[in-house]
Amino acid sequence: MPDSKNELLRALKDAREYAAYLNELGIETVDYAKERTPGSGSVTVVKTATSKSMGPRESARLPINQPASVPISTDAPVFAASVTAAMQPPQSSLFGEALAQLPGLPESSETLDEIWRDIGECMRCGLCEARTQVVNTYGNRNARLMFIGEAPGADEDAQGKPFVGRAGQLLTKIIEAIGMKREDVIIGNVNRCRPPGNRQPTLEEAAICRPFLFREIAAVRPNVIVVMGNTALRNLLEIREGITRVRGQFQDFQGIKVMPTFHPAYLLRDPSKKRETWEDMKKVKEYLDSLQTNRSIS
Ligand code: URA
Repeated sequence: MPDSKNELLRALKDAREYAAYLNELGIETVDYAKERTPGSGSVTVVKTATSKSMGPRESARLPINQPASVPISTDAPVFAASVTAAMQPPQSSLFGEALAQLPGLPESSETLDEIWRDIGECMRCGLCEARTQVVNTYGNRNARLMFIGEAPGADEDAQGKPFVGRAGQLLTKIIEAIGMKREDVIIGNVNRCRPPGNRQPTLEEAAICRPFLFREIAAVRPNVIVVMGNTALRNLLEIREGITRVRGQFQDFQGIKVMPTFHPAYLLRDPSKKRETWEDMKKVKEYLDSLQTNRSIS
């Protein structure tokens, strides 16, 4: 009997948290008849007209001030040498084989500013031709949580910061749903120049750009990385499966926990998938909370 009571309490707690999450996302009502069997059809959602969103004015308050324009450094940092192999274009069209060339993630004494100086007004791949500006990783330099997407879109290309468009506004709500603020986390992309027409970056473009992301990860050393969508998933992890298969299951990147989940742009197209994203984010929150608990115990 106490077991079933505990189960009921847990279910109530879950339901309350899920309702708060949906509320954060601006969803007022859910059709629970459809919700009962996971994966069975879409969920009816109604968006509020006044859901909280982050405008450009607010995003300007984020803590990193990136140098607007920096020259390309000729004295490459020590770390750069160790990622040289990863900067070679992939030998094969398969993600897995391409990733087999990746080196380990060494300790880094680099700062984000040094990495960005090295990136400079990058012309290492063809994406430089159509972009307005390089969009580097942005956010809290001491973040415990990092988010990685694919590549900048039109808004990001115009503003010079990742995830500031519609998908970015949804990402802000997802972050807030787990009790954090955008200022607490750091957000980046596999590629930092907008691909023409928002197409997916090619394997070669991704392979040229991602070593900088690895260096940023090494500099920040977050406790958890959330990879959003297939491009981020497959460029960070040696994985062939797609996001639908692996989402919700913690993976490892050089000792850092990685949570794969859906890309916010996909959630905009199919809001019924927000439920799964919530489940994934709850695991991230639980893990981060457990680290804090451990810290306060020891
Ligand atoms: N989509 C991405 O993957 N990254 C952005 O910065 C914006 C949209």
